[in-house]
Amino acid sequence: MPAIERFADAGHTLDDFSDHFFVECPSCSGRALVRQGDHRLLCTRCHHTEMPGRWYGAWRLYVSRRCSVCGTHGSRSVETDQQRDKLLLRCSECGDEREYRAQGTHLQRNKGLVTDSVYGLPLWLQGEFQGELCWAFNPEHLDYLRRYVGAKLRERGILPRNTIRKNSSMLSRLPGFIKKARNREALLRFFDQLEQR
Ligand SMILES: [Zn+2]
Ligand SMILES: [Zn+2]
Repeated sequence: MPAIERFADAGHTLDDFSDHFFVECPSCSGRALVRQGDHRLLCTRCHHTEMPGRWYGAWRLYVSRRCSVCGTHGSRSVETDQQRDKLLLRCSECGDEREYRAQGTHLQRNKGLVTDSVYGLPLWLQGEFQGELCWAFNPEHLDYLRRYVGAKLRERGILPRNTIRKNSSMLSRLPGFIKKARNREALLRFFDQLEQR
């Protein structure tokens, strides 16, 4: 890879890269593309395809309500990747135990892997680098990180100069290990491995 001498942080945010992404296919675990726009999933290996609707990832389910026997308030929350909408709640006062309809919020990780926000499937481009999870939405995102790491001279300027975007710039929020010069060579090899997955 040719060394890039200069690199200007164009002020990209994660949102700029999250419009399409590679995930693990729910059918064959191969590489699937979730395309831009309608977010249809298309597997390049088994040709499985589906539209958004089902969540494969982890949830936090919670119930907060009064016991239907004695009226004492109780609450409970669990993290799970099972598809269910009810939670068992035991009353601390009368001991009544029953299932109540639960509310759920999607979690961004499942079994230690980063998942996408549409299907909850593991992002394809991810792996551990020196004990830290490192990931990219798509090859363009990976290439952006690679150019950043590969740059010998980093310009601090944000282009276009836009103060609103400045604080949300993705590069300003990268973990420290990516910014350390001594990691540069190893990190570039790691990015190459990710891309060849
Ligand atoms: Zn597949
Ligand atoms: Zn009760």
